[in-house]
Amino acid sequence: MHENRVVIVGAGLGGCVLAHALADTHDVTLIERTDHAASESRQILDVGKRAVLDPHIGTGLGGSTQLWHNGLIEIEPHVFAEDWPVGREALDSHYERAYQLLGGVEAGTVRRALADLKQRLEHLGLPNLRLQGLYYPQDAINAWEAFKLKGRVRLVRGQAVGWEIGEAGRVAALRVQTDVGSETVNGEQFVLCAGGLGTPLLLDQLARQVQLPGQAHVGRHYEDHPMGFVGEIQVDAPLFRLWNFRAPGTDGNLRLLLVVKVGKLDVSFQLRPAAAFYRDRTRQRVGSVLSELRRRPWDPRLLIRLFSHRDDLLDILSFRFGIQLPTRHYTVLMTAQMPPSEERAVWRETDPETGRERCVRNWVLTDSYQWQLRQSIGDILQELSPVLKASTVFPTWFEDLRTGAHHSGTARMSATPAEGVCDRDGRVYGVGNLYVCDGSAIPSSGVANTGLTIAALALRLADQIRRQAPAKGECK
Ligand SMILES: Cc1cc2nc3c(=O)[nH]c(=O)nc-3n(C[C@H](O)[C@H](O)[C@H](O)COP(=O)(O)OP(=O)(O)OC[C@H]3O[C@@H](n4cnc5c(N)ncnc54)[C@H](O)[C@@H]3O)c2cc1C
Repeated sequence: MHENRVVIVGAGLGGCVLAHALADTHDVTLIERTDHAASESRQILDVGKRAVLDPHIGTGLGGSTQLWHNGLIEIEPHVFAEDWPVGREALDSHYERAYQLLGGVEAGTVRRALADLKQRLEHLGLPNLRLQGLYYPQDAINAWEAFKLKGRVRLVRGQAVGWEIGEAGRVAALRVQTDVGSETVNGEQFVLCAGGLGTPLLLDQLARQVQLPGQAHVGRHYEDHPMGFVGEIQVDAPLFRLWNFRAPGTDGNLRLLLVVKVGKLDVSFQLRPAAAFYRDRTRQRVGSVLSELRRRPWDPRLLIRLFSHRDDLLDILSFRFGIQLPTRHYTVLMTAQMPPSEERAVWRETDPETGRERCVRNWVLTDSYQWQLRQSIGDILQELSPVLKASTVFPTWFEDLRTGAHHSGTARMSATPAEGVCDRDGRVYGVGNLYVCDGSAIPSSGVANTGLTIAALALRLADQIRRQAPAKGECK
């Protein structure tokens, strides 16, 4: 029997979707860091803008899906046309399967609900808004658990730390540091799913042994989505009815992103129903405890903070129970596309104090970008002017922006090695049996959270591997 072994580094979103799609036909080995290794190597040194959200990557089984909200959104066709080496149609059928897999919902159902919302906004006097829809299933999933991968794949608990190269520059094996020593993991196909901050570090190591034609792009073109509450508005239209809109035929909710364009960049705004205007400076810092609560639902300190945070209570009532309390006040949540970094933004260095390796991230939001974002706030207020009664922009909105935790671009797909690290299929230029399938492969995402696209890419790669590397018992 011919057995084709696929070795995947990283049991996060990309790794788990790929493993799930191949587990019944191929011998799949997943390498994921142990909790011990994870706690050491999760140390990310931010030398640029601080992430604020801590942690902003997950390690262990499920990767960052242990932390995420599972908000599902497609990247717009114009972003593919401008920045991807393939058109949006290359992912169409995979997006549909990804919606099912992550949200248990038909893509068409979400798209119809969005069209419905657009009509409702028109009736409220806002005909010209550009919208994107962000679908939240009722419960977020941990990808490792949801796909029941335990027992379906071989799991190696440890950190991939080095490469063994075979004939013709192909990868023969990965060296893995486990809690008890080291292990060599052999295979025929290798896939890096170590995330936008993990994959470039492994590629750097590989580049010491093999010439990578796209090496100059490793760790560059970094993108994240800066996000934060930038102000508050008062309107005389019942927009609260459209918040957490229950998509008919689903148990999830659709949120509206109102999108404006500044230069080449898309910037989105969500209007979150608020209890009232914030009058003093402290309360202008409208953080939310919902993210933390998701991970620690019974933490008494968080529960106390929740009850002093009336907007979070409004959000829970509408998301969980469909109760929309009428209000005319809204906080304005910005999520912005950023220009990909020209300089290298993610690299590895040895921590001089501990002697251990760590990841360095240089997240840079330039002055001219700040100016563009400021302009986008003016633009959205202008778009809302038919219903707008009052508005305030928070004075510290720019400083308060935090990471969207959508680390991408650092091993991007491209049409040629002169522009990126891997080709249209995610295969690393110069290495015949190595692929990238995680956030780092995404060349650009507009304002879309990257999860749905990572899953779509993984489903597409699984089809590709099935075509090129036959299943157990099949011949090529
Ligand atoms: C609080 C929060 C909320 C979020 N909400 C959303 C949302 O609503 N919608 C959305 O689309 N996205 C959301 N995200 C982002 C989403 O979780 C990530 O985009 C997605 O999980 C990235 O998938 P990935 O496969 O690239 O990496 P990850 O899921 O981060 O997985 C990478 C895995 O590789 C492992 N790894 C790395 N290096 C090595 C190594 N050398 N050896 C072994 N293992 C290694 C890591 O431990 C990790 O488990 C959110 C993130 C956070 C933190």
